[in-house]
Parts: sequence; structure tokens; C-alpha cells
Amino acid sequence: MRTAGFVAPVREAWGRLSDGCLARFPCLSDAAWRSSMCLKVVVVLLHVGIVGVLFLLDTDLIRRTREDPWYTVIYLLLFLVTLVQYFFTSNSSPGYVVDAKKAWDETHATFINRRQSAPRHGSFVSSTDLNQLGKIDSRMNWLKLVTELYPPGSSTRNWTCTYCHIIQPPRTKHCHDCEKCVLRFDHHCAWLGTCIGKGNHCRFWWYIFEETILCIWTGIFYISFLRSSAVKEWWKEFIMIILFAVLTFCFIFLFLLLLFHSYLALTNQTTFELTRRRRIPYFRGIPRGVRPFSKGICRNLYMFCCSCDSMYSLEAVPPREELEARTRPYTCLDIISCRCC
Ligand SMILES: [Zn+2]
Ligand SMILES: [Zn+2]
Repeated sequence: MRTAGFVAPVREAWGRLSDGCLARFPCLSDAAWRSSMCLKVVVVLLHVGIVGVLFLLDTDLIRRTREDPWYTVIYLLLFLVTLVQYFFTSNSSPGYVVDAKKAWDETHATFINRRQSAPRHGSFVSSTDLNQLGKIDSRMNWLKLVTELYPPGSSTRNWTCTYCHIIQPPRTKHCHDCEKCVLRFDHHCAWLGTCIGKGNHCRFWWYIFEETILCIWTGIFYISFLRSSAVKEWWKEFIMIILFAVLTFCFIFLFLLLLFHSYLALTNQTTFELTRRRRIPYFRGIPRGVRPFSKGICRNLYMFCCSCDSMYSLEAVPPREELEARTRPYTCLDIISCRCC
């Protein structure tokens, strides 16, 4: 009874506090926004914790920083850049199909406006009529555009998203977390709270690259603390060993992830295509080992790095004859002419 009497006022006070917070910050009522913010706070705390403990407990590092501050300044700059890159990537668009369609509609509407607003037999078409025309044309034109990207005879049923009912260009997949179709879908990253796709795959690569370098550099600081012959309290050593183990685990994971995504960038593939090849209709019948969207290492890298400029450009599935031609074995001439590049 006494517990119930104590709980009721606490509950009431908590209700008043949460109502006040929601009135002041309406965005807090959105559960997705709250979980995304919690994730970002955890990421920042993890980074600050691992690096902060180092500067709190390692007196030798503090002494070295006083003597030669540049080394630590560069390290802290990398730390800052990595965190900024995290937020930058996490808030970037992976390239949603709905946005690509909107961008394409705008370009197409401009084209129609320019073409049709030109005087024809002395008369003008009104802007309302043009808007109506544009809306009617929009879906048909998008369908026509996407159809041309698939091999002849493909069924439109295979390309229409069953969730958002949009017509999907090749390499697109619906993300159930974002509830949108994503161009060149790679995966939904829970750590960043966003999808990785055509628009931000390169940024994602840079983020994991910076995290890996930060892990190596922080690991060097930890190793030099653990290996120093100076007398240390046992609890300091214990905390540092635990954090070093966490850091080692993060490094192995990040390094393998970096290698994997470098391979994907060089071969113009995505994690989804690599792992679910059999489930993708237009991959069926393509000889094993043939990567249909690969255009050689150099062009793949260029497309991967410069996708921000052409975020909504669409890729076509190459004709079957071209894909079969790629299965022929390498000759001396192919090696000299750098066929793989
Ligand atoms: Zn969808
Ligand atoms: Zn997603």
C-alpha cells in the first residue's frame, strides 16, 4: 500500500514533466527520432569514453602532449573529423527512388514547358493544362524510362514495389526501416540509422576508413600505456585492458568491413546483390562470376566516388550477349589492353 502511495505521485510528476517536454520539443513525440537521437548519443559517448579515459589515466601521454602538442592535435583533429563524418553520413540521403522520380519529373516538365510554350500557330498552351499534361505523362514516362533499363521481355510485376507501389529501376530495393525504395541499395545501417545506397555509399566508405585509422591510432596509445615500465595502479591497468579489448574487436570488424566495401566499390556491386543474387530476377541466367554492372576497375571507382554529382542517374542491365562475352577467358592481348580496368 505504501509503495503504491509513493508510486502514484512519482508517475504524476513524470507525466507532467514529459507533457512539458513534449510541448516545448514536439519532435520528442516521434519514436523514430528519439531512437535515432539515442543512437547518436551512444556513438558520441563511446568515442569520447574510449579517448577520454586515455587522456585521464595516461599521465605519460599528457606529458608528451605538453612537450610536443602537434602529434596529439592531429590525433584530436582526426577524432573530430570522424565524428563529423558520422553525422554527415547518417544525415545523408541514400538516393530514394521517389526523389529520383521527382527530380526526373522536374527536368521532364521543364523540357515539356520549353517545347510547348513556344508559339504554335499563334496560340499558347496554358500553365494549368501543362501541369495536367505533366501529371498524366509522369507515370507513363517513368515506366517507359525504367522499361528501357531492363532486358527485353521482363515483366513489370517484378519491378513494382509491393509496399510503396513505385516502379523500381534496376538495383533498387525497398527498405523496411526507411519505408522507401533505395537506388543501388546496399544495406540498412543500424549504427548510422540510415540506408546505404547510391547517394551515400562513398561517404560510408570514407567513414569506415576514418574510423579504422582512428582505431589504429588509439590502439597505439593504449599499447604504449600498457607496455610502459612506469608504476601503474591495478585498476587503471584493468580499465585500459578492457577498453583495449573493445578497441581490438572494433578494429577487426571495421578493417574487414573496409576491405569488403573496397571490393564492392572496385567491382561495382552491392552487399544485397552479392548475398541475394539468386533472389534478384534479372540476375537469373547470368553466368556465375560475371558482375553485370561492372565497367572495369577505373570506371567503377570513378562512378563510386562521383556518384554524389549524379545521385539519381540510373543504370541499365547490360544485354545478355555482352554478359556472355565477358565469360571468355583472358588472353595475352586482354592483359596488355587492361581488359579488367
Ligand atoms: Zn518500396
Ligand atoms: Zn533503410
